[in-house]
Amino acid sequence: MRAAEGGRPTAPGDLPSERTPFNRPRVRTLFMGNRGSRPGQGLRMPAEPSSPAIPEVRLRDLRPSVSPVELVGRVITFNRREVVRKSDHSRRPLLSGLLSDGTATVRFTWWDPPREGIERGTILRAVGVEVREFRERPEVTFTWRTRVSPAGLGDLPKVDAEEIPFRTVHSLNPPDEGFRLEVRVVRVAPRTVTVGEERRVVYDGLVADRSGAMALSSWSDFGLSAGEAVRISGGYIRTFRGRPQIVLDERSSVLRVEGSDLPQPSDLLRSPPRSIAAVEDEGGGAAVAVEGIVVGLLPPSGLVYRCPQCQRTVKNGLCRVHGQVEGKADLRARIVLDDGTGALTVNAGRAETERLWGVTLDEARRRLRDEPDPSLLEESMLETLLGRRLRVRGVGTKDDFGVTISPESIEPVDVDLDAAAAELGRRLSGGP
Ligand SMILES: [Zn+2]
Repeated sequence: MRAAEGGRPTAPGDLPSERTPFNRPRVRTLFMGNRGSRPGQGLRMPAEPSSPAIPEVRLRDLRPSVSPVELVGRVITFNRREVVRKSDHSRRPLLSGLLSDGTATVRFTWWDPPREGIERGTILRAVGVEVREFRERPEVTFTWRTRVSPAGLGDLPKVDAEEIPFRTVHSLNPPDEGFRLEVRVVRVAPRTVTVGEERRVVYDGLVADRSGAMALSSWSDFGLSAGEAVRISGGYIRTFRGRPQIVLDERSSVLRVEGSDLPQPSDLLRSPPRSIAAVEDEGGGAAVAVEGIVVGLLPPSGLVYRCPQCQRTVKNGLCRVHGQVEGKADLRARIVLDDGTGALTVNAGRAETERLWGVTLDEARRRLRDEPDPSLLEESMLETLLGRRLRVRGVGTKDDFGVTISPESIEPVDVDLDAAAAELGRRLSGGP
């Protein structure tokens, strides 16, 4: 089980940099500088963006061909490496990754790329691109003949919404795009993030259809509200904290759907509990429901102190980001829940901890003043919780230490206490 700290991570990591155009001016300079100063090539200025001799194609329409094409696409992922030439052992830089234009995603390979200025989200126009086929899928190569220049959102192909296929939430995986989706907004709330100097509002939420639920992050305000059914296009799927997430931005469109037959939010979330093993296999989920027995608590549980700025737990008055701070008292319980198929961690916040333990934050502080040993509090909490059967719903994330649930609800389930004690005994002794 993991011992990670609670609290929200810092904001800049939240930004889907895949689509922010703020780096464009710098990219332009770098592209030109690089292209113009390549050794052995002489001065090469970037060509005008559209050369009439070379057809511009959408990635969906790419076919292997002998004649080069022009395309506009956004870098979704990339990595740099060097290839050693057999003939003279010289090293040749290579950048490869995925390129997308909203109609399709293709692999690209870029020989002798600029050293800087390529980031996830960079939109570029490439003239004189070679198209090949690998395992029956087209791939593109930027060679020394290819002229690459920066482009903007407006240069990406316009996609007619009617052409885009409908998909279900369950069928979507990163880095999918070019889909339509009809979903119920289960919840949505604005959150302010600071990106460099800029403050932005991002709308975080959860959407669901009959096939499943997925986290949503919208960088444009579509006026979304919980309960409404919407048809989404122009979004894309990325991985965020190990889970797929739908990202919407200024290129996306959202239409309200009246009289949708999608289930109501409460029904979408009221799915029956699943086995912890199954939740683990799927790497968690945006709307996980499990039921199990409390078999332990992980530190830090009980009375904790949090950094007033980032909410991380503070150790000896030190926040690992903000240094010396005046910690704010809080209650938490990191509950280990076991259902016989596996175990996971439930991170209960103050309100749930107070309710399950039956001790308020004030009472806990009073007890600590009377008896200044925090381990007594944790023992008392463990005594109350151990062996209780809980039904937990929330967002499940998985890392190397297993699945952790950030709960939306924790309901104690009444059980025959003797039977529960016997079951707990079996679980703790590792029996069937
Ligand atoms: Zn802090």
